[in-house]
Amino acid sequence: TGKKAFIAGVADDQGFGWAIAKALAEAGAEISLGVWVPALNIFETSFRRGKFDESRKLSNGGMLDFAHIYPMDAVFDTPEDVPEEVRTNKRYAGAGAFTVSEIAERVKADVGNIDIVVHSLANGPEVTKPLLETSRKGYLAAMSASSYSFVSMMQRFGPIMNPGGAAISLTYIASEDVIPGYGGGMSSAKAALESDTKVLAYEAGRKYQVRVNTISAGPLGSRAAKAIGFIDDMIRYSYANAPVQKELAAQEVGNVAAFLVSPLASAITGHCCYVDNGLNIMGLAM
Ligand code: NAD
Repeated sequence: TGKKAFIAGVADDQGFGWAIAKALAEAGAEISLGVWVPALNIFETSFRRGKFDESRKLSNGGMLDFAHIYPMDAVFDTPEDVPEEVRTNKRYAGAGAFTVSEIAERVKADVGNIDIVVHSLANGPEVTKPLLETSRKGYLAAMSASSYSFVSMMQRFGPIMNPGGAAISLTYIASEDVIPGYGGGMSSAKAALESDTKVLAYEAGRKYQVRVNTISAGPLGSRAAKAIGFIDDMIRYSYANAPVQKELAAQEVGNVAAFLVSPLASAITGHCCYVDNGLNIMGLAM
């Protein structure tokens, strides 16, 4: 209650970011969002037109609302990093400030210090290509959007976090086990994200007295996952082979995220927490 959160990576009501927002709102937090620039317009229009109203409903009868919604592109740290063709792109030209450092400054000015940072974003332009066919450019783009973006956020948001605060990200088991179809360097990006979770937990823990954890989530038919192409197969596979035979609800991940960033988890940091109906423990599934 009374905590302030910044969540990067919400662009509809289908993904993990939205579910985390909802769980944090249920717990009484004030939430601001960073929405990917190309998705911002449609998100705000849909929000205004009531498209999300059903999923905005909170258990206390209230509606999920956002204190601030910022345009954001987590592959750029400062305005100097934005190439000409992006700056002049019609979706970006009118967006104003959208780089990680600028958004941290705007959050500081608008809401002051924050308690919770959520990274719920990933992008891999060559995700449908096997690693053996992934270009250097595609691989580095996946790392930039999906891994370095979190490092950048901790660099810029760490200084405006209250001691006792916490950050969380979302990862996937393709970092450690082979998941054919999760290509383009996305498996590599998740491996980096998980390793960075530990190093950042140490460094930001010492420097800012904040905790850093990641959730390794089971398959969810979000917008990003549908772009990969084999999500329905993954959901079926999990249903058939996981110890808990049910479809994963985004809210189950949202609830664990709310726990991990709360004082209930005050001694948990650098941890990768599986929220996947237990699929990760299976060797041979029968
Ligand atoms: P999603 O589509 O709801 O979320 C991904 C978000 O990232 C989108 O809102 C998109 O606009 C945003 N984004 C992409 N590039 C960006 C950039 N450069 N700057 C800012 N935002 C950007 O899908 P999701 O599945 O909920 O994904 C959230 C996280 O969960 C990701 O890290 C994903 O890898 C992870 N995850 C997903 C699954 C799954 O099965 N869906 C499983 C495990 C982990």
